[in-house]
Amino acid sequence: MSSGRKRCATIALALCCAIFVCATARGQDVSRPSTAEAKKPFTWPAGKRAAVSLTFDDARLSQIDTGLAILDKYGVKATFYVQPANVKERLEGWKKAVASGHEIGNHTSSHPCTGNYAFSRDNALEDYTLARMEKELDSANAEIQRLLGVKPVTFAYPCGQKFVGRGREVKSYVPLVAERFLAGRGYLDEAASDPGFCDLAQVEGTGFDNMSFEQIKKLVIQARNEGRWLILVGHEIGKPAFQTTDAAALAALCEYARDPANGIWLDTVEAVARYIQREQASVGR
Ligand SMILES: [Zn+2]
Repeated sequence: MSSGRKRCATIALALCCAIFVCATARGQDVSRPSTAEAKKPFTWPAGKRAAVSLTFDDARLSQIDTGLAILDKYGVKATFYVQPANVKERLEGWKKAVASGHEIGNHTSSHPCTGNYAFSRDNALEDYTLARMEKELDSANAEIQRLLGVKPVTFAYPCGQKFVGRGREVKSYVPLVAERFLAGRGYLDEAASDPGFCDLAQVEGTGFDNMSFEQIKKLVIQARNEGRWLILVGHEIGKPAFQTTDAAALAALCEYARDPANGIWLDTVEAVARYIQREQASVGR
């Protein structure tokens, strides 16, 4: 090679390296062409700017005794993650909830959490196996179907915890949830889910017990500013108290979300997850 050609080749190589270094520094995968996903940003239906789902866990009695009337008054559909044993305490009320169009989801049969919670010490995730967890999931679905005639299609991780076992033997049970359910919801998460990116098997759940409407509204506005899916998680419904969603704040939230000017799609976890699943599939995710 002549010295002129050599110099040209060296310059070309240096240029290639510079482009590669530059792209890598910006976090781009230079081996992959841009995808349809990059061209088509995620959009919510009917010009909405965010989705919000109201979820309530454990089939607490006040959900039927106090909450149902508020939700039905505003025509809002919520998702209830129930434990079958508690459903029996208000069976007729739960049948009414199903008839009103609320979603009934799976929350396991015995609500196992880490044994660091005293209430779960004798039913601790640290002592679980994946096989035992499979039984929890399937027995809850069968019992809910027997009691209420509906088969849950979404799931909420008790205490938001997603593991079984200890130390080197720890395993995630997210894959069991992914095999059985359209979506799995966490708890005490700090972000709302990004609909174009999120893994439906572990979407984020944000607690809204003990919050004023103004506090909840801040979360909703943040989700709207970012185009996200905010899933709110409550337990009891009534006057402000431990693990209780304030009934007055819940009513104000329903009122706010159903005003079209606020751009909020308020619907069940199942409805929003089905929409996200279709949208993600359309860009090949
Ligand atoms: Zn729970």
